[in-house]
Amino acid sequence: MTIDTTIDTDVFELSDAHTTAMHELYRHLHAHPELSMQETHTAAFILEKLNHLGLEAFMCGGTGVVGILRNGDGPVVGYRADTDGLPIAEDTGLDYASTTTGHLADGTEVPVMHGCGHDTHVTVGLTAAQLLTENRDAWSGTVVFVFQPGEETGEGAEAMVEDGLWDKAPMPSIIYGQHVWPGLAGTVNISKGTAMAMADSWKITVHGRQAHGSQPDQSIDPIVLGAHMVVRIQTIVAREVHPMKSAVVTIGTFHGGLKENIIPASAEFTVNVRTFDVDVRERVLGSLRRIISAEAAASGAPEPVIEEITSFPQCYNDPASTEDLMAALGGVLGEDAVIESPPVMGSEDFGLLAEAIGVPSVYWFFGGHPQGVLDGDDPVPSNHSPFFAPAIEPTLTTGVRAAMTALLSKVGTTA
Ligand SMILES: [Zn+2]
Ligand SMILES: [Zn+2]
Repeated sequence: MTIDTTIDTDVFELSDAHTTAMHELYRHLHAHPELSMQETHTAAFILEKLNHLGLEAFMCGGTGVVGILRNGDGPVVGYRADTDGLPIAEDTGLDYASTTTGHLADGTEVPVMHGCGHDTHVTVGLTAAQLLTENRDAWSGTVVFVFQPGEETGEGAEAMVEDGLWDKAPMPSIIYGQHVWPGLAGTVNISKGTAMAMADSWKITVHGRQAHGSQPDQSIDPIVLGAHMVVRIQTIVAREVHPMKSAVVTIGTFHGGLKENIIPASAEFTVNVRTFDVDVRERVLGSLRRIISAEAAASGAPEPVIEEITSFPQCYNDPASTEDLMAALGGVLGEDAVIESPPVMGSEDFGLLAEAIGVPSVYWFFGGHPQGVLDGDDPVPSNHSPFFAPAIEPTLTTGVRAAMTALLSKVGTTA
């Protein structure tokens, strides 16, 4: 279908009442974050709002919520917003800052903060649903809103797909999503092709043989063995990845032993891999397995145990759909406000929602900071910082306009 780059923006003009309600909604969500896959109150809140708007709404994948807005014949379009907070002690000083706590899987009580800005995503998604509901005569088709839990742990998209998301909801022809970040509020950044890195995290347990520190001949030292692995793993990017391709391999933890005169029975470390290309990912993960196994063999140690912690899929922006969207966004936000950008090394499980049904998807970033903050002497707090505090406006209004532009450019417009 042809793309209407002169979308009727009257449809998403926010009245003062809309704006006040949206800000109230945002402050409420910001003050009440929940940890990944524990978003029960957030989910109940979203479900209630969607029901109130008259959408067909239901829970999916534990704490995920789906809202189906049917409005006659026309394309089916998907829109995803993630809902989870992070174990961070908020230090923004905002009067709506979170003071809530949650529990990690091991029972530890931790402070919780919407430190990645997913509260802006939920606010934008609900506001877009409201505007589409109030302006049914301006468009035709179906919009499927996916409020996804557990993005931070890479669990939520998979949980929703495995719970039959696309059996229960009509299958969209494209899925859109967006993320707030420390860019200029009022602008969006978008990549053509790969948008974000794939990320794989593993825990490796290296087994040796325990002995007295004075009797190394009786041992297989897992610390020395693990250290060789760590050093050798550094050669994967340096010596095995094509110079024009990129990959990051980071070993973020290494633990072994309890006392200086005991050679321990085991040691463990965790590795985090970021890649942009599927073939590079396969190569790096294959090299990791080979090195871990071969170094153990070189030390006469048993085969180490490799456990996957998380795996984030590809986040790939369909180039043609991205170009269409950029044209439409340029018409609404202004050409200068739409910035084509290289992919980022961060990761997302958004791509899985589209990959699961073989449809295209487009994902972009919307700025959360005014020029004055970006130009200031202090470094701008990034996502996951205890100081991350997007300006409410024009951040939220831009997010809503971007979401509405994407959706209205794909459903049938009757204007
Ligand atoms: Zn995050
Ligand atoms: Zn995030």
